[in-house]
Amino acid sequence: MFPRDREVLVTAALPYVNGECHIGHLRTYVPADIFTRMLRKLGYEVLFVCGSDTHGTPIVFSAEAEGVSPKEIVERYHEHFQRIFNALGINFDYYGSTDDESNHKRTQEIVRTLIEKGYVYEKKVKLAFCERCNRFLPDRYVEGKCPYCGEHARGDECDQGCGRHLEPGEILEPVCKICGSEATFKERTHYYFKLSAFASQLEDFLRNLDGTPNARNYALEWVRRELKDWCITRDLDWGVKFPSREDLVVYVWVDAPIGYISFTEEALKRKSDNWEQAWREIWKESKATIVHFIGTDIIYHHCIFWPAMLIAAEYSLPNAVVASGMVTINGKPLSKSRGNVVWVADFLKKFHADTLRYFLVSHSSHTKELDFSWDAFKTRVNNELVAILGNLALRVLSFAQKHFGAVPEGELHEEVLARIQTAREEAVKAIFAYDFKKFVDASMKLADFANKYFQREEPWHLIKGGEAERKRCGEIVKNTLQLLKAVCVLLEPVMPSKMEELWSQLGMDSDIHAVGIEEMTVPLKSGQPLGKPKKLFERVP
Ligand SMILES: [Zn+2]
Ligand SMILES: [Zn+2]
Repeated sequence: MFPRDREVLVTAALPYVNGECHIGHLRTYVPADIFTRMLRKLGYEVLFVCGSDTHGTPIVFSAEAEGVSPKEIVERYHEHFQRIFNALGINFDYYGSTDDESNHKRTQEIVRTLIEKGYVYEKKVKLAFCERCNRFLPDRYVEGKCPYCGEHARGDECDQGCGRHLEPGEILEPVCKICGSEATFKERTHYYFKLSAFASQLEDFLRNLDGTPNARNYALEWVRRELKDWCITRDLDWGVKFPSREDLVVYVWVDAPIGYISFTEEALKRKSDNWEQAWREIWKESKATIVHFIGTDIIYHHCIFWPAMLIAAEYSLPNAVVASGMVTINGKPLSKSRGNVVWVADFLKKFHADTLRYFLVSHSSHTKELDFSWDAFKTRVNNELVAILGNLALRVLSFAQKHFGAVPEGELHEEVLARIQTAREEAVKAIFAYDFKKFVDASMKLADFANKYFQREEPWHLIKGGEAERKRCGEIVKNTLQLLKAVCVLLEPVMPSKMEELWSQLGMDSDIHAVGIEEMTVPLKSGQPLGKPKKLFERVP
């Protein structure tokens, strides 16, 4: 179970900034933001960090193709991602860049420590070399055949076959990606991290790892099968320099996750002068709970490379790794080159950000694949947000406004309070199981009950009756408003901007983003003026 008394660091996998944000990216960021907001509602002290992943060959490759510097590409998309995250209400405490000075420093410090402790060794390897381009071909600069399964593969990953990470020099029949020539092999000295020395420690770590079972199980399988040492240097200019070798940079999967550490440092510096102590408690003394949100395609990096580096350099280990399933579009894999993609910026021109946040967590369980289609989106919005929640809010608020002008007098019913209590318990249980769909379902079930309750009690008949009936009518309205308030508190983490609107329609003057979960059962004040009822959601045509 999630430790109650500790501070929490939530990280979201770093977007690789060589292209625009598409819907597939969001399955990491939206649930991580919901998790953070909900933990805060439950009284946890949470720090939420992320940043742009800026190094590695794909960015250098794009820059060369466009005839600009890698820095230019990185800055362009770094800003783009920040804009999108703001528009979606994804509120990081700090959003950095792996090219920031503090990350260069932290990476070099960690790599130096690995060297001093004897976990790094030199090795001569035969690397793909293009005679025509007169250069070594790291990672994405080369394509060829996977030595394990024989499928066509990229230089660093068998992306179309067995999914294995490929070490430099492993690929067969290499072809230069720049000019298309067959590459040859040339000998070169590189540096290796002794990953194989950490098998038993990694197995212990993984057995105790919280988060989604897919991350743990997938990584355990790898650890039990084989762990090969890991080449941590590359022949590139762009990146974090390897200590005392100006001609080499560290592999991007070394400095990218170290971003979590340096972004924590930057986030804390902005909060307090005494940041160093807080930082040590998180990253050196294991006094906080660290939760990584990632996609299933990077489980290997987060559950094997990363913890091995942390163990070796004596840093705190993550407590949970939460891995989302991938996103497909109309039943087919998301593909930028085939045009099977939904760009978030385009989406936001047409629809409210909160409807997308809602769709992403309500449409399928977090670890399952999520298939986006416009029909599915339309059905979710029209049948759930418009028909259940929007309808409830407009109906009860208009009725209350028309006949009472404020929250009516009356006691809260046992039945209503019990329903709220159940929804709260289900939602809290779901959040700690990283089951965001169940979380939303519990909230919407409460909204559904509120609709049925209002319908069943027929206040529109009662209002026409005598004094006793009118009193009963007020009570029904107050109880329905209370249910609406409870739904609003529960759904704030999912739809922060829409629930802020609803909160003010309920006449609340507190900050919905700051109220705790207990507010669900705090009775609305009779006589509290209500705001102007307004349609919350538009139907998708
Ligand atoms: Zn393969
Ligand atoms: Zn070439």
